[in-house]
Formats: sequence, structure tokens, C-alpha cells
Amino acid sequence: MAANVKPVRREAQTFKERLFLPAIIKGLGITFRRIFKKKVTMQFPEERWEVRDEYRGAPVLVKDDENRPKCVACSLCEYVCPPKAIYIVPDEIEDPEHAHVERGPAVFNINMLRCIFCGLCEEACPEEAIFMSKEYALWGATRAELIHDKETLYELGGIRPDPIKKWSNK
Ligand code: SF4
Ligand code: SF4
Repeated sequence: MAANVKPVRREAQTFKERLFLPAIIKGLGITFRRIFKKKVTMQFPEERWEVRDEYRGAPVLVKDDENRPKCVACSLCEYVCPPKAIYIVPDEIEDPEHAHVERGPAVFNINMLRCIFCGLCEEACPEEAIFMSKEYALWGATRAELIHDKETLYELGGIRPDPIKKWSNK
């Protein structure tokens, strides 16, 4: 044994502790008292918590009411993101379906293992294209699954038909 390791003596169990029965009865008493109280658990994921309006969940990309991506790949969100969780490769858009803008992201990834849910990307975006959603249940079987690509971000974000006024409360 190393000289600087001090052995800790275990206290001997009392007769009552060795019986275990009093502890079991005490535990069952707590169980029965709780059975008739209001439930504090829920059946997740079928049941979900209602989160407050100010809640900042996963950042997502949104489309306009004509189902057109709003992001113009200006990279401002990538620039302000403190942990460098966003990676964008800008590209020109030739698709007439997206003719309202000339640029868009060829690649838009958010590494959710890095994201600190600060909301700076939402604040910086001039196009109101990226938003902090209410999504809090993020999971992945591998690290790669937690890097949300463009398709995942649009799937999570969906369409925002309402005119977004993110500065209206400022
Ligand atoms: S919420 Fe913050 S950390 Fe997460 S992607 Fe946006 S700017 Fe980056
Ligand atoms: S989400 Fe907004 S800030 Fe980020 S690249 Fe697209 S338009 Fe620019």
C-alpha cells in the first residue's frame, strides 16, 4: 500500500441494519404515500414538456411561405458563433424555384455537440432564416448524427408562414 494512502475503517452494521426489514418497510411506506399524489413524471416522448416562449432549443433553418429557403449564405451566423459550431459553403443558386435570392448554402452544418444554444446566430441573421426552435430532444447513435446538415435543419425548421418580426420586442 502506498505510504500516502490512509485506510478508512468501515462502520460495522447494527443488528437493525442487518435485518434489512425496517428499511424495506420504510421504503414501501414512501412508495405508497407517493402512489396517491399528483404524478411528477410523464410518458416521454409521447408526452412533451411545454417550454416557454423564450426557450432556446436547437437552431434550425426556416423557409418562407412559398417553401423557399431564406438563407442567402452570408455566413454572418458562422462568423458570430462562439464555439464555431456552424460550417457553411456558399454557392450560387440557379434553380428558378429559388430565384428570389442569388446565393444559398451548398453546405450548411451545425455541430450540435459544439452548440451552446446561445442564440447569437438568430440575432445576427439579416434574413430571419435561422431560429432557435423549441426542440430539446436531440439524440444520435453516433457523433456524426449530431452534426445537423442542411436537410435536417430545414426539416426541423419547416415553413414560417407568419411574417417574422424578431426585432419587434426590442
Ligand atoms: S446557438 Fe450559438 S453556439 Fe449554437 S449555432 Fe447558434 S451561435 Fe452557434
Ligand atoms: S442563416 Fe442567416 S446569417 Fe446564416 S448564412 Fe444564412 S442568411 Fe446568413
